[in-house]
Amino acid sequence: MSRARILPAEPRAVAEAADALRAGRLVAFPTETVYGLGADATSDAAVAALYAAKRRPAHNPLIVHVAGRASLEPLASLDAKAERLAARFWPGPLTLVLPRRPAAPISALATAGLATVAARVPAHPVALSLLEAARLPVVAPSANRSGRVSPTSAEDVALELAEAIDLILDGGPCPIGVESTVVDLSEPDRPVLLRPGGVPRAVLEEILGPLAERPGGEAQPRAPGRLASHYAPSLPLRLDALEVEPDEALLAFGSCVPPGALATFNLSPRGDTAEAARRLYALLRAADRSGARRIAVVPIPAGGLGEAIRDRLRRAAAPRPDDERSG
Ligand code: AMP
Ligand code: MG
Repeated sequence: MSRARILPAEPRAVAEAADALRAGRLVAFPTETVYGLGADATSDAAVAALYAAKRRPAHNPLIVHVAGRASLEPLASLDAKAERLAARFWPGPLTLVLPRRPAAPISALATAGLATVAARVPAHPVALSLLEAARLPVVAPSANRSGRVSPTSAEDVALELAEAIDLILDGGPCPIGVESTVVDLSEPDRPVLLRPGGVPRAVLEEILGPLAERPGGEAQPRAPGRLASHYAPSLPLRLDALEVEPDEALLAFGSCVPPGALATFNLSPRGDTAEAARRLYALLRAADRSGARRIAVVPIPAGGLGEAIRDRLRRAAAPRPDDERSG
């Protein structure tokens, strides 16, 4: 088994990574949300290799990353609402689910056979220069084994996937720390929030009006992050804890720090949901390694990035079919 090489994201390494993508290989790179595992979205073989590396179920579609709005033209159609969102939030942590153009040069595996394509322009200089150099649409789900905690540093990518990939671009810690917000615009009059994320709901609702939630009961998950068990550490998680037991690790927030835990990690001592989002996955990993029997998490406020944090924690705490984690 090869060890992944971690290279500082300097121009020569970015060029090498772009060549690797063009040759159908997998490359991990930083985005402003989390580290992504990239593959050429136009190649069935590359996309299949990505699903295999992540052990991700094939019905769980991927987000296509492009260097700018113009690169999306051959892939998806944008109505006036989509154009407004793209102009306002790209580059940035917003994914739009759009009608796929029939002739779009995107592997059907990437979109799990759907008539829609999920796309975004990431706001990270390394991600953008990689996409520009590769001159390809790139699928880039989080660079972790399916169902587990997303990586927000190059070292955490190596811990998750070292044996499956050969190159990791190191761009330091991710500035947002939770995945993109996913909005489905495929039904023009009814935008649906598929996944809360880096763009807070309130900011989107200023433009779109109230967002619908996705109705349940579809056989195919439209949003991988919506599958029940996801983002999960090894230890079980207990939410909304106001007291802790001596064999628990505690994720605290602000001044809510119940005493007596085996180890305590404060997501944001100053009570800021953006700081908590940035630190969430690294502290979940630290709590996982602390020797505790379980992780207890205090209540997290819903405003700002709190909705995304609460969504991830709820899924991290969801019952897990052993070794059948979802996405
Ligand atoms: P991740 O696993 O973090 O890459 O998340 C992938 C996200 O992509 C999910 O939350 C889905 O909402 C979304 N997704 C990808 N493709 C589609 C699609 N064609 N239709 C709807 N959602 C999609
Ligand atoms: Mg993921």
